[in-house]
Amino acid sequence: MSAPAAPIPNDTIPGPGELRVIQPGLLRARMPLAFPPGHVNIWFLEHAGGWLAVDCATATRTTRDLWDRLLADPLLNGRPLTALLITHFHPDHIGLTGWLAGRFGILPTMTRIEWLMARALWYDSGPDMLQQQIAHYARAGCPPDYLSFVEGRGALYQRAVAELPRGFHCIRDGAPTRIGAETWQVVTGRGHAPDMATLHNAERGVLISADQILPRISPYIGLHPGEPEADPLGDFLASNERFRPLPEDTLVLPSHGEPFRTLHARIDSLAAHHAARLDDMVMACRAEPVTAFEAAQAVFPRATQENSQIGFAVGEALAHLRRLERQGRLTAEPRADGVALYRSA
Ligand SMILES: [Zn+2]
Repeated sequence: MSAPAAPIPNDTIPGPGELRVIQPGLLRARMPLAFPPGHVNIWFLEHAGGWLAVDCATATRTTRDLWDRLLADPLLNGRPLTALLITHFHPDHIGLTGWLAGRFGILPTMTRIEWLMARALWYDSGPDMLQQQIAHYARAGCPPDYLSFVEGRGALYQRAVAELPRGFHCIRDGAPTRIGAETWQVVTGRGHAPDMATLHNAERGVLISADQILPRISPYIGLHPGEPEADPLGDFLASNERFRPLPEDTLVLPSHGEPFRTLHARIDSLAAHHAARLDDMVMACRAEPVTAFEAAQAVFPRATQENSQIGFAVGEALAHLRRLERQGRLTAEPRADGVALYRSA
């Protein structure tokens, strides 16, 4: 595991439906999630006579009720949401977007790629999509029992994401964006999501880091069936270097976990974490060629024992195997049955 970043002293964690002041005009809420990491942070910034919220949690009865409580909190002064900025398309960030946007008559603000990913996934839930996933996991050497599990589980995205609006406001990398009276710089990150928005405010010394740089866990970096030749781990590690020019004492506000001020050390430890996993993967196929599932069993043994976790373990193994292929440390070739075998170069 990567070394965790030290949390900010005195930062008290808001309970469900509660708000905490981080800085003047910058508030934090924390929404529970029914899956790891168990919560997602939501940030509120003063904007246009009300509040801009960053992200909104999965769409459940509980999160809707908690939003009602947040919106009635005296810290929001009875003012409405006037903007909703969604960092990336994952359900724990975008889930209630349609519900909130409809309620306040606003459109979400996102990068175009994240917006289109969300829209595409929301409407792509048929049997063909499942067959593509099953073929992906079969090529990775997953056991038949897991393939039946994927088929039985069906499409997940719509279940955690309320129907999305038909329009959005576009933000892009490198472009300044006005929030209230302040200017924030959009810096996008790749690897965990294709074009995730983070927000930097130099005057405040604050980086809203979304899932790109998290304090305790390393964000999930997976190879997805929709882009089989991608190198998401290469993208992630390269993206993180884009945050090096920010001052080391930047207050980093992550989507999961506590705010912290050790940005550069955290970028280093995420890089070291993946370097160690890459070495583990090479060791796993040293004696004989292995499938991605066998590599995942060797490197993430716990996660490969539960059907609900196998997809993450195999996706992450595939991302590391792809990086090693690009580095020339491994080669991949299909077995007679089509399953990919990885051997050390
Ligand atoms: Zn997340």
